[in-house]
Amino acid sequence: MKCWICGAEANSREHVVKASDLKLQFGNFSQSNPLFQHSGARKNVRVGSLKSDKLKFSASICARCNNERTQPFDRAWEKLSSTLQSAHRQSPPAQRVRVKTIFPGASGKSMLNVHLYFVKLFGCRIVESGIPIDIEAFSQAILMGKPHPHLFLEFGVLKDVKGKRAGITPIQAVNTQGQSVFATFMYSVGKIGVVPIFTMLPTRRITRDAWHPSQHLRALELKSFTA
Ligand SMILES: [Zn+2]
Repeated sequence: MKCWICGAEANSREHVVKASDLKLQFGNFSQSNPLFQHSGARKNVRVGSLKSDKLKFSASICARCNNERTQPFDRAWEKLSSTLQSAHRQSPPAQRVRVKTIFPGASGKSMLNVHLYFVKLFGCRIVESGIPIDIEAFSQAILMGKPHPHLFLEFGVLKDVKGKRAGITPIQAVNTQGQSVFATFMYSVGKIGVVPIFTMLPTRRITRDAWHPSQHLRALELKSFTA
């Protein structure tokens, strides 16, 4: 298998839910104090380490792409993720967060890096699940450090979630002539959710409330999501 980003030998596995998000949500866990993982296929799978392969995609990228190339993306999302968690813990919970307060001095670049983190995650899912979406635009975005023209993000709070949880939902897609023209899923950590939306559809109704790096973002509005 070749790295879908750069074409080198794929020898590295990306976390499905980012390790820092798992830590944020569950703290430390271990063999004696494991996490329980649920999927469509299996329930209550014990996971005793943050490094467990059960928490990762199969190897579809190389170590260089997973580490130094995409580290700024990982870091940007890590920062935004923890900020959104604390914003939500305020009383009353914040509905919007000013981007400048999250990333002082480098907000545009940092938000582009957040977008690119989800480009990487989405790309890994496309490859893992064999979704009929051209991966080229995803790898180009990462290699060039440029936005993916058709990937948008929505941020929100999941109303009905109780207890500690983190995960991704199955992909929902609309296919035309064997190609997905629309695909989306939700990535959530506790009550905070992110919905990456890939769309080739001409209507802007779908992405009206979503953010793309071509739009300057002053404040991040948290929508209300139903889990
Ligand atoms: Zn690579």
